[in-house]
Amino acid sequence: MLGLMQDWPLLCHKILDYAAAQHSRREIVSRSVEGPIVRTTYGDIHARAKRVAQALDRDGFGLGDRIGTLGWNTARHMEAWYGIMGVGGVYHTLNPRLFPDQIAWIMNHAEDKALFVDLSFMPIVEAIADKVPSLKQIIVMTDAEHMPSSKLDLVCFEDWIAQGDGDFAWAQVDENTASGMCYTSGTTGDPKGVVYSHRSNVLHAMLASLPDALGMSCNEVIMPVVPMFHANAWGIAMSAPMTGAKVVNPGAAMDGASIYELLDSEKVTFTAAVPTVWLMLLGYLEETGKELPHLKRVVIGGSACPRAMLEKFQNNYDVEVVHAWGMTEMSPLGSLGSLKPEYNHLKGAQRLDIQEKQGYAPFGVEMKVTDDEDKAMPWDGKTFGRLKVRGPAIAKGYYGGAGAEQFDEDNWFDTGDVAHIDEFGYMQITDRAKDVIKSGGEWISTIDLENLAVGHPDVEEAAVIGIAHPKWDERPLLICIRKQGKDPSKEDILGYMEGKIAKWWMPDDVAFVDEIPHTATGKIQKTELRKQFADHVLPTV
Ligand code: AMP
Repeated sequence: MLGLMQDWPLLCHKILDYAAAQHSRREIVSRSVEGPIVRTTYGDIHARAKRVAQALDRDGFGLGDRIGTLGWNTARHMEAWYGIMGVGGVYHTLNPRLFPDQIAWIMNHAEDKALFVDLSFMPIVEAIADKVPSLKQIIVMTDAEHMPSSKLDLVCFEDWIAQGDGDFAWAQVDENTASGMCYTSGTTGDPKGVVYSHRSNVLHAMLASLPDALGMSCNEVIMPVVPMFHANAWGIAMSAPMTGAKVVNPGAAMDGASIYELLDSEKVTFTAAVPTVWLMLLGYLEETGKELPHLKRVVIGGSACPRAMLEKFQNNYDVEVVHAWGMTEMSPLGSLGSLKPEYNHLKGAQRLDIQEKQGYAPFGVEMKVTDDEDKAMPWDGKTFGRLKVRGPAIAKGYYGGAGAEQFDEDNWFDTGDVAHIDEFGYMQITDRAKDVIKSGGEWISTIDLENLAVGHPDVEEAAVIGIAHPKWDERPLLICIRKQGKDPSKEDILGYMEGKIAKWWMPDDVAFVDEIPHTATGKIQKTELRKQFADHVLPTV
């Protein structure tokens, strides 16, 4: 017997329709890329996203077309996302912090047909446009007055959407249709494409909005500092309009002073970012003696939230910290550290002990830790194992079939994190099995660095590990064996690597050794190296 309820496909553009119907006047405030603060509303964003869809449709883009975006968090970027999804297309967020060749590789892998770009990223586009043969149109998210001069054929966003009247019917697609794409570099080998569906994005926005998850509401003023090009912006570009929350977009300025200015002037109640951003804000507050009278809650994730950060926010500024864990593959929320009644009575150090954990899974995320034989470990808060997850907003594979070994036949996805879970469901990451470094919320491939370093004529073998860093969480240390009879210096090797990778990928230090430990199968034993260099202090600290 089937239920007699309506078939109402879970489509992302319905979120924006809802926001326009119920929260039309709620403001979206953005620090624009051109400079001034721009105020708009869900009503405006809805109307303009329709124009984006109309313009895309007119120019021949539609169902299944991957359309890149290289942009900061702004209202125009939101309009681009919804316009793209509204024609049945797939927004594909590109991370501007990657090396231009990596961005070109990712665009080619996804076969992006068009690209929305912010003015700040024009140099990247100039460098890669002719390397991406599928690319037919580049839309610069600005107005006529600010259009850059370029050898490329560019479309001006404002002029382009002004050509239509916005009378456009969203594409009616199946809810399982792809809606968005985001590549992750948090795996070994080439970046891997995660493909969100309309259904997964809508369900994720719902689970993310729950009171003990992000706790979204139309009475909140939320500032997503986490960029839209990171892990689906933690779903905020969907959960905010779904709940009618006012949004304050920081645009390109993420330094302490700029973030503070918006927190204060817009009376932000709730904000989200990686620890590195909060370190800059806390530094600014300490320098200036300023306070945070409006802010109630801050969600910190992407890397482990340091205990000192929990203490400062809560004790010095009376701002509650919610520690969160997630992954691009999980849309991205996986667990949140809000306190259950079992723990809510705790005070002081005991409370911090729990808040330091990455938290418990909300509805829609199943979680387990297993040993190497896939046997589930007890939830005792100490037995650790591989952290595996499944749910309706979690990937079942990567675009093109890469990384299939991370998914099993029962849909459990191996996160590559090592963790334990306690009796009340609170998970704590203890290690990372995947061989990548996370610096300021961004991944650095150790393999790429090793391959590059061994290209130096005097280097016999190279290994890269992450070393703890107070500002960036982790920074790369390059460990080298010199070729017999050769004596390259640290500067020689770094000089050789310079310009071949993004500046922030450059190792902070080089150590020379006589031997690098290997496993029985000949792989570099990173665990051993990590132990060996556990007390290494980087010169950048
Ligand atoms: P990404 O897909 O770039 O968001 O990276 C996901 C990975 O970041 C996870 O698998 C973890 O290794 C790491 N990560 C995210 N949040 C946390 C956290 N709160 N604590 C520790 N590691 C985290």
